[in-house]
Amino acid sequence: MSVFTHVDFDQHEQVVYGYDRASGLKAIIAIHDSTLGPALGGCRMWNYTSDEEALRDVLRLSRGMTYKSALARLPLGGGKAVIIGDPHTGKSEALFQAMGDLVDSLGGRYITAADSGTGVNEMRIMAERTRYVAGAGQREAFDGGSRDGDPSPSTAYGVFMGIRAAVQHRLGRSDLDGIRVAIQGVGQVGFHLARLLREAGARLWVTDILEANVQRAVSQLGATAVAQHDIYGLDVDVFAPCALGAIINLQSIEALRAPIIAGAANNQLADSSLAETLRRRDCLYAPDYAINAGGIIDVCYERTGGSVAELKAHIEGIGQTLTEIFQRAEREGATTCAVADSMALERLRSGASWVSAGTPARTQNWQR
Ligand code: NAD
Repeated sequence: MSVFTHVDFDQHEQVVYGYDRASGLKAIIAIHDSTLGPALGGCRMWNYTSDEEALRDVLRLSRGMTYKSALARLPLGGGKAVIIGDPHTGKSEALFQAMGDLVDSLGGRYITAADSGTGVNEMRIMAERTRYVAGAGQREAFDGGSRDGDPSPSTAYGVFMGIRAAVQHRLGRSDLDGIRVAIQGVGQVGFHLARLLREAGARLWVTDILEANVQRAVSQLGATAVAQHDIYGLDVDVFAPCALGAIINLQSIEALRAPIIAGAANNQLADSSLAETLRRRDCLYAPDYAINAGGIIDVCYERTGGSVAELKAHIEGIGQTLTEIFQRAEREGATTCAVADSMALERLRSGASWVSAGTPARTQNWQR
């Protein structure tokens, strides 16, 4: 299996394979770019059918983190980790301790966090073996209370700000009162988002494969429940995918009536050419890695010790970034995805100059 000639290699700085005989850990850590700071990205556990599949996933995800952090103006590089194994049956304390040791062996070049198949519990086990873990502790909530390290509320807040920016740009409305939103997936992020939208006066339609999640949104937020396949064709203003990736495909685009797509799910477009299809249909697409950056911003502030007020203000910047993307895409006749990629690279380059001019005070805390 080749790395340097891999189609997704894209000049990764480091790719590390780890195996632990005692626990059976099989993992790959990829560091794509550390120009702006240590590479931070989640640790995914997935039942990959082959090592090749795991390598492809980690390379693509880690490159995506470089773009996401640069666009969100964070002093972070891009990295990711994958554990090859079944997240339902293959977890053990020893496995995550061994993973903690592997992360630690990189001396802080990579900082791990929760992702699909891992959560706060696994982060806490890894934190016994390394300090390069984010999302393992208690945090102050936006309302002044306490919450665990789960960044979902921050992700939802960023998506909410992104929806406001999209509604302003596409519909010329500065408030969300009466705006109709269809949410696909009311799990951790989707439910928080639904509550924020409801508080802002939006009307909600929701679907989920878990009936209990649908019922929670119906009973607590007055949302209307719809069947899974009906969520695309609703006559709404915003479609917010907050479940799975690759749900924007030719079939769903055909059914979609919403003039705006803005949600938390990662990798929403089944293939990158669909950005142009959406542009031609005058459907405003908020690039996923731009709108769902609230979580990584949260994790960054946890590590560097910023206040809740600073964190909120930084997440609110997602709205400004999206407005810039939308306006530039319109001016240049380009897709929002192409503009987001260009802006991420521009911010990576300009960020590189402030990093080389002197380490920002915030990044000194990375070694905690
Ligand atoms: P989650 O698992 O808590 O919620 C996802 C919800 O979608 C679940 O309730 C699930 O039952 C539902 N779902 C799954 N398949 C579905 C389908 N076909 N139709 C309808 N509903 C379906 O996950 P989450 O943490 O809320 O994340 C949601 C999305 O946002 C994911 O794509 C994730 O990668 C992305 N994301 C999350 C964060 C975060 O902070 N949690 C950050 C960035 C991106």
